Amino acid sequence: MNAPAVGLTATASPLDARLNRELEGFRAADLYRARRVVEGAHGIGLVVDGRACISFCSNDYLGLASDPRVAAAAKRALDRAGTGSGAAALVSGYNREHAQLEEELADYTGRARALLFTSGWAANLGTLRALFGKSDALLCDELNHASLIDGARLAGARYVRVPHADLAGYASALDDAKAQGGEVGIVSDSVFSMDGDEVDVPALAALARQRGATLVVDDAHGLGVTDGGAMALADVYIATLGKSLGAAGAFVAGSEALIEFLIQRARTWVFSTAPPPAIAAAARAALRIIRSEPEHQTRLQANIARFRRGVEALGSGLPFSLSPSTTPIQPLIVGPAGPAVVLSRALFERGYWVAAIRPPTVPAGTSRLRVTLSAAHTEAQIDGLVAAIADASLGGS
Ligand SMILES: *Cc1c(COP(=O)(O)O)cnc(C)c1O
Repeated sequence: MNAPAVGLTATASPLDARLNRELEGFRAADLYRARRVVEGAHGIGLVVDGRACISFCSNDYLGLASDPRVAAAAKRALDRAGTGSGAAALVSGYNREHAQLEEELADYTGRARALLFTSGWAANLGTLRALFGKSDALLCDELNHASLIDGARLAGARYVRVPHADLAGYASALDDAKAQGGEVGIVSDSVFSMDGDEVDVPALAALARQRGATLVVDDAHGLGVTDGGAMALADVYIATLGKSLGAAGAFVAGSEALIEFLIQRARTWVFSTAPPPAIAAAARAALRIIRSEPEHQTRLQANIARFRRGVEALGSGLPFSLSPSTTPIQPLIVGPAGPAVVLSRALFERGYWVAAIRPPTVPAGTSRLRVTLSAAHTEAQIDGLVAAIADASLGGS
């Protein structure tokens, strides 16, 4: 082997110099982010960086990510079908497990067909780019998930930012867009991932129908938790399998024509290796549990109510405000990034893991602790979190 040319390995590259400057800026603004390593299953009780804690920041709302029945289904599929699918679904990667999951998802959502993607990101980018183009307009909620924003930009359509969940804003944007010609799409989260509030899907669907627009709804945080109407009413229904289903991947559900078109044209699907069959088997097992055991949803609703009652009972004078959300996403809005990080750290020291969410994930000045509830939390764990919040915010860290 040749020795590397002198000077090509040791000195900092211009790229690193630029990145290090930017990283310093993130640090100075309290916006630097880092990961914590979880040992073992991602349930409620976790060992994180070597210490035990109770997690209140997962999207595994029904506790299925660590359900032994889901893991067992994946194991059986691993034994039968191995690990990788080896190719894109259009080539040789389409397994019986994928086909059955798609049928079961179509049945669950009440739509003609469903199509499995490797992730919600892939589903949103691939779908929006396939369905819309330069001569079209996409009306997008200003708080949409990053993958919907990037998908709409990738489509090349005119991007119209609509004020958050503002039906009058949609109506006037629709009139403008229609006057300019081309297809018009309305693109929205159902449950907003950082606020936990919901858009009025039936009203959006009515607007879309009246004005001949296509309604695309991302139900990542609604599927299996709340039915705000997207499943029945969106022309293009998108949801993930990595949140309440405790698996990974995502799917689009809709008409026969929609799914056949995506099979021809959704680039993130056509040119991507199909997910492991075992992941599809896990999602099928989780879906069966969701359909046959409604008690998890009942328990989740009770946990959400218990947390809200607990925080409301703490009274005023707290360094955050509780959002009016009725979903498992219950953010405590702190405001500036620094104090949000301090509160998150103080809770972690008390054994509760609640992530601080800062810009650019949320608008500047709205940094928050994004508390998420699960059906798997016990009443004692919820009461313990509320007590720790009181202690950390009133007693200092
Ligand atoms: C998590 C999320 C996604 C991305 O899904 P992944 O499967 O994690 O890539 C898309 N949309 C929304 C609203 C989400 O919350």
